[in-house]
Amino acid sequence: MKTYTRLIICFTVTALISLGLVLASPAADSPAAAVHGLDLAAIDRSIKPGVDFFAYANGNWLKTAQIPADRSSYGSDAMLIELTNKRTAALIREADVRSASQSAETRQIGDYYASFMDETGIEARGLTPLAPALQRIAAIADRAALSRELGGSVLADVDVLNNTNLYTDNLFGLWFAADLSDPTRYIPFVLQGGLDMPDRDYYLDGSTRMAAIRGEYKAHIERVLTLAHLANAHAKAGRIFDLEHRIATVHWSREDSEDVLKGNNRWTRRDFEVRAPGIDWPIFFKAARLEAQSEFTVWQPSAVTGIAALVASESLDTWRDYLAFHAIEHAATYLPKAFVVENFAFHGKVLAGTQALRERWKRGVDATSAALGEAVGKLYVQRYFSPAEKTRAEALVASLVAAFGQRIDNLDWMAPQTKVKAKEKLATLKVGVGYPDKWRDYSGLKVIRGDALGNFERSQQFEYQRNLAKLGKPVDRSEWVMNPQLVNAVNLPALNSLNFPAAILQPPYFDPARPAVMDYGATGATIGHEISHSFDDQGALFDAGGRLHNWWTKEDLAHFKASAARLVAQYNTYRPFPDLAVNGKQTLSENIADVAGLSVAYDAYRASLHGKDASAAQGFSADQQFFLSFAQSWQQKIREPALRQRIVTDGHAPAAYRADTVRNLDAWYPAFDVKPGEALYLARQDRVHIW
Ligand SMILES: [Zn+2]
Repeated sequence: MKTYTRLIICFTVTALISLGLVLASPAADSPAAAVHGLDLAAIDRSIKPGVDFFAYANGNWLKTAQIPADRSSYGSDAMLIELTNKRTAALIREADVRSASQSAETRQIGDYYASFMDETGIEARGLTPLAPALQRIAAIADRAALSRELGGSVLADVDVLNNTNLYTDNLFGLWFAADLSDPTRYIPFVLQGGLDMPDRDYYLDGSTRMAAIRGEYKAHIERVLTLAHLANAHAKAGRIFDLEHRIATVHWSREDSEDVLKGNNRWTRRDFEVRAPGIDWPIFFKAARLEAQSEFTVWQPSAVTGIAALVASESLDTWRDYLAFHAIEHAATYLPKAFVVENFAFHGKVLAGTQALRERWKRGVDATSAALGEAVGKLYVQRYFSPAEKTRAEALVASLVAAFGQRIDNLDWMAPQTKVKAKEKLATLKVGVGYPDKWRDYSGLKVIRGDALGNFERSQQFEYQRNLAKLGKPVDRSEWVMNPQLVNAVNLPALNSLNFPAAILQPPYFDPARPAVMDYGATGATIGHEISHSFDDQGALFDAGGRLHNWWTKEDLAHFKASAARLVAQYNTYRPFPDLAVNGKQTLSENIADVAGLSVAYDAYRASLHGKDASAAQGFSADQQFFLSFAQSWQQKIREPALRQRIVTDGHAPAAYRADTVRNLDAWYPAFDVKPGEALYLARQDRVHIW
C-alpha cells in the first residue's frame, strides 16, 4: 500500500521474497538506456489523448511489444529492471571469480551464487538437504511438538506498512517494527499466514475461474508429494487442501488487513493463551526465541484465534502432511529440477500466466540479491550511481518537498492547526536517496559453497536474528527496507521516512540527458506520490513522530473522505474484464498518492521555471512533455492471469489506469485540448483535487 510498485509479479513464493527481480536474456539490448526523452515511436496519434491517454502515449508500443515467455508482464519498468539486473548479475558473477583482493562480503556473494548454480550437485543430493526438516515434521507426535515446529519455523517475512507484504506461507508471519502506539520502541507484529496460494480469495471466491485454479492446485499438491515419494499422495493432497481452505475461511480480507486502525491490537503473552487456545504458546514462543517478549501487535486477531483452533482440531496426520508439503514448496527453488519445474507449472503458469521458466542464472542472481541485498547493493552503487546523480536527485526531492509545503499552505479545507502539524511532519520527514547512510553487516551470515539450500535457510535465519536483535533497542529511522538495486520507492509511515533506491533514479525515469520537465513528470511524480503517503488517509493516522494518532480535525477528515469517495467511484468504473473491475476502495491510498504526486510534481516543475517559459522539445510543449513522460512511465503490457491476480491482491491500480491519473489535473485539459464527451473528460467539479 505504501510502495510505488512498478514491480513485476513473480512466480514462486521465494521469488516474491526476492522483491521482483526479473532478468532479460544477456544478449538483449537495453531500450531503457538507449532512449533519452519521450519514446516518440510508442505514441499512437490515431487515438485522442482525451479518449484514452494511456493508449495515446503508448499505443504503438502496445501493438508491437511482446511479453517475453518467461514473464507475466513487460514495459518501461521491466526494461529498466532488466538493465539493472543485468548489471547486478554481472557484479554477482564477477564476485564468483575468486581473487586475493576480494573482500569477505564479495566472497559471500560469489559463494551464494555459485552454490545456486551448481545444478549437478543439487541433482546429486536430491532431497537430502531437506531430510532433517522432513524427519522432524514426521516425528511430531503431539500438540506440544506441533507447537514447537510452528514456532521454530516463523521468519521475519511480512511487512504491514512499508513494503506491504502481507503474505507468508508459514502459519504466522512476523514483522519487527516501531510500535504504532509508542514509536520509540520496536514490537513484533503477528500476521495471519499458512496459505500456499496468494490470498484467501483463491480458496473462497465462487467464480468458475477461481474454481478451476483450485482444481489445478490440488493436482499440484499431489504431484509435489509424489515427487517427494510420500505415500497416498492423492488422499493427502485432498486433506492438505481442505486444511488450507479452513485456514482461508478464518483469514481477514486484503482490504481489512490493510486497515491500520483494525490491525493495531496489543496482546500480551497471556492473551494468546486466553484468546487463541489450541497452540501451546509458551512452547511456540520459546521455539521462536521470543520467550522474553511480553507484548505483541496482533494484526488480525480473529484469524490468529481461528488458526490456533485449527491447530487443536485438525488431526496430527493432516498437520504433518501439510507441514511437509509447505517445507518442500518453500525450498522448491533450491531443490532438484523436477521440483523447480513443478513449482513453476503451478505458481508461474497457472497463477501468473508466465509461459517459460527463467534461465537458471537469472534465478541465481535473484536468490543472491534476496539473501545479501545490501552487500550486492553496495557493489551496485559504487559502479552505477554517481555522486552527481545523488545530488541531482536530492535537489529534485527538495523541490518536491517545497511544492508540497506550498500546497499545504494553500489548502482551503484544512484547519490552521492541522496545517501546522502537517508542516511539522513535512519538516521531520527523512528522505533517503540512493542507498542507506550505513550498510547492513553480513559478517554473521555463514555461506557455504556447495550448500545451496543450507545457505538459503541460514540467510532466512540471519534475517530473523537481525530483526530479533532490534527488540529493546532504540528505533533506527535510517534503516532501509528496499535494496539500492531495486526499481521502486517506498514510504515508511511509522519512521516518517522515504526510500528512493538508486535503481529507480536512472533513465527512463530520471535522466540528465533530457529536459528536466520530463524528470518531473516521471520521477517527480514518484517522489510526490511517496511524500503524499505521509499525508493521506493513512498518513493522517501517523504524527510527525510516527505515532498512530490522528492529528487531523474531524472537519479535515470529513472533507478528505468526501474527496476520497469521489476517487473510489472514479476507479470503480475501470473494468478491464467483464467479470472483474478495479476495486476503488482497495486501491484508494495509492490512487490518492498518484493524484497528489502528479499535482505536486507539476507545481514543482512550474516553480523550477522561475516565471520563464519552458521550451518545446520533440514536437511537444513543456506541459505535454510533462504529462507524456508520466504516462510513458506506466508503459506496460500484462498477461490476463497476472492482471487478474494483481486486481485481487494489489493495493495499486493497473498501470493503464495509473497513467489516466492526468484527468484530475486542470493543466492536462488545455495541454491536449481535451473536450467534453471524450471518455476521460471530467467536468471541473468532478476532478478530484485533494492536495
Ligand atoms: Zn504508494
